[in-house]
Amino acid sequence: MAQNYAEWTSSSDSEFNEENSEDLSHSELEVLPNYVLEDHSNLKSLQLSHNNFVTFPKELGSFLNLVSIDISNNGLTNIGCEILYLKKLNNLTAKNNLLDNDALPKDFGLMTSLETVNFSGNRFKEFPMQLTEIRLLKGLFLGANQISSVPSAVKNLTQLETLYLGGNCLTDVPAELGSLHRLSSLVLCDNQLHSLPPTFIHLRKLRSLSLHNNMLSTLPQEIVALNLTELSLRNNPLVVRFVQDLSFDPPSLMELAGRVIKVEKVKYTASDLPLNLVNYLTSAQRCVNPKCKGVYFSSKVENVKFVDFCGKYRLPLLQYLCSPTCTYTSSCSDSETDDEDSAKMKKVLLG
Ligand SMILES: [Zn+2]
Repeated sequence: MAQNYAEWTSSSDSEFNEENSEDLSHSELEVLPNYVLEDHSNLKSLQLSHNNFVTFPKELGSFLNLVSIDISNNGLTNIGCEILYLKKLNNLTAKNNLLDNDALPKDFGLMTSLETVNFSGNRFKEFPMQLTEIRLLKGLFLGANQISSVPSAVKNLTQLETLYLGGNCLTDVPAELGSLHRLSSLVLCDNQLHSLPPTFIHLRKLRSLSLHNNMLSTLPQEIVALNLTELSLRNNPLVVRFVQDLSFDPPSLMELAGRVIKVEKVKYTASDLPLNLVNYLTSAQRCVNPKCKGVYFSSKVENVKFVDFCGKYRLPLLQYLCSPTCTYTSSCSDSETDDEDSAKMKKVLLG
């Protein structure tokens, strides 16, 4: 008896059995059958995929113990505010419907019990802002919509482990994506991305990065510091047609003075200089050319360095030099670090 009690208490809400779950998928339903309505307080899991619902059934608002619902592949155009009553709902899967930005209740962000939301294959033109309020979200799937930008508020989703944004209309992604420290899988394939923010270096748990079918010409240098095991890059202009942008704004007098202070190691303390100058001097970046001891602040020259991965592929990484006269071509001296990089990356999908 004691053992049974222990088993019962240790079983989590995500464990479903015949008693508390109902599979009504592929049943040509337009309304919920009566016997299911009568069981409303008992059900934890409900499968309603591949039916003919056009709105989220209002009656579901009384299924207060529901933990997981799959209502994919219906004709859903709307999810009413009844869903807000489902305080235990952990997993909402509503892919392949007709949902757009007006389809969700304004207070959808109050559904703080949600850990996984799947709205892939719908008609969202904008990233639904309510989702950025669901702070405990671990998995967010918004693939195959028409989303053209990701809001900087995405940084609120600090528990996110999987973010799927493949098959949208993104031309860039915000630097704030780099603050999602728990992210292990990031899917950005099938968009129109031209570049990636260097803040990706902070994604220490990222293992899989999907970038195929985009417009990428280079990758940020920082990407080699990630512990990726999978990187997909096929169908990007990179490798075959990379851009070498040599436009160079001449350094300002402040930058020139700052460079001298840094290179000559002129001593200064916080009491010698105004705070903004101290901060400016701290922002100096070292020139990547190992033969140059220079630094730069904002005046820099883009340089594309090819790095070997897996001993097979050469990826163009974007890095910066201190001036156009600071010439730097990859030589044998790089091979040591290149070997390190290739050992880290297990799988690069280019073809
Ligand atoms: Zn230099």
